[in-house]
Amino acid sequence: MSKIQMTTPIVEMDGDEMTRVIWRMIKDILLTPYIDLKTEYYDLGLEHRNETNDQVTIDSAEAAKKYGVAVKCATITPNAARMTEYNLKEMWKSPNGTIRAILDGTVFRTPILVNGIVPYIPTWTKPITIARHAYGDVYKNVEMQVEAGSTAELVMTDKDGNVKKELIHEFKNGGIIQGLHNRDESIESFARACFNYALDLKQDVWFATKDTISKKYDHRFKDIFAEIYENEYKDKFEANGIEYFYTLIDDAVARVIRSEGGYIWACKNYDGDVMSDMVATAYGSLAMMTSVLVSPDGKYEYEAAHGTVQRHYYKYQKGETTSTNSVATIFAWSGALRKRGELDNLSELVNFADCLEKATIKTIEDGVMTGDLYSMSKLEDKTKVDTEGFLRAVDERLKVIL
Ligand code: NAP
Ligand code: MG
Repeated sequence: MSKIQMTTPIVEMDGDEMTRVIWRMIKDILLTPYIDLKTEYYDLGLEHRNETNDQVTIDSAEAAKKYGVAVKCATITPNAARMTEYNLKEMWKSPNGTIRAILDGTVFRTPILVNGIVPYIPTWTKPITIARHAYGDVYKNVEMQVEAGSTAELVMTDKDGNVKKELIHEFKNGGIIQGLHNRDESIESFARACFNYALDLKQDVWFATKDTISKKYDHRFKDIFAEIYENEYKDKFEANGIEYFYTLIDDAVARVIRSEGGYIWACKNYDGDVMSDMVATAYGSLAMMTSVLVSPDGKYEYEAAHGTVQRHYYKYQKGETTSTNSVATIFAWSGALRKRGELDNLSELVNFADCLEKATIKTIEDGVMTGDLYSMSKLEDKTKVDTEGFLRAVDERLKVIL
């Protein structure tokens, strides 16, 4: 069998610890035997980020902008312990944050559903994709503790020096205040990213805020979404038989629980932070969650939603057997290969991505799985395999499906 050819490279962002080990195995076992894999390689492993003063992260994001499709391995975000462990020059910033800022993207997270793993909400038979606005609000806040007898005001000076003031509160006793902001441009990008992704997936978009209480701030989100939808997307949505649905956040939460899934839930920054953890947990596992960053001008960066699985890596280093779930990382690769195939009109590559995902799901549904799923699966006939054993089992099925 001759290998599948590619025309444009995928930007490959390698990472750290157990996911770096899995990365190599996926390429060796599931990709390079079948594809003449073309990638532009960036080593985002912490050692190399440190050597390059993190320039490699910036370069990789620029490459993603240039080529349009990237796949990223999980990476360490340094903290004090990592400073010592890796003898770092600086506490480098989160690579995901850096890449997100350069691509100005929205992150979409979707669970991978398999028979045998039953969601905590049994009606959720289709995946719910969470789209989280990744700018502003409480994540860029300014806050103060207030002493008794203080007066807090909101002050805004326009470009001509005119001042607008509004009283927040006159504090008889002590208290707290917080200032939040967002930008029209960022909300517009977020709205377009959600609507574009919905057209890609042919799924409805749900969006919710608390505009009845926050009559200017949250209302602005509602208005921007409505305006962009009416002017740019309504016709395309109707042609594709999908809908844009707006409601209040508390109503949305109640409807989500009662729903069967199968839509994109656009969330403000804080709602997205909280709800993505709820949704991931309810569907079973972070190791079964895909994540893709989509920029407003249509650049895609695929990754797994989980981290570098540090605890498993330390076992691996000691030569002990590990049973780390590689599904989300496999799906990051299949997502990137499919998108590259679609953009370059390579039907063979798109088909390979589909088959790789089918083989992965079939493996688990046949009862062959890693330890995390083994403890959750309701299948009667199941076997726990090690990290490499799982990939070999996927490959056996991939050969048959192809
Ligand atoms: P983590 O790597 O997601 O792992 C947390 C725990 O979840 C693991 O110890 C493991 O539980 C379970 N787990 C996660 N992924 C799994 C998988 N694929 N297969 C089996 N079990 C899995 O999170 P963390 O330990 O908080 O963070 C480790 C490092 O990852 C940190 O340095 C952090 O900065 C980085 N991180 C990176 C990203 C990213 O690049 N996108 C995201 C989050 C965290 P058991 O140990 O109980 O088996
Ligand atoms: Mg969170």
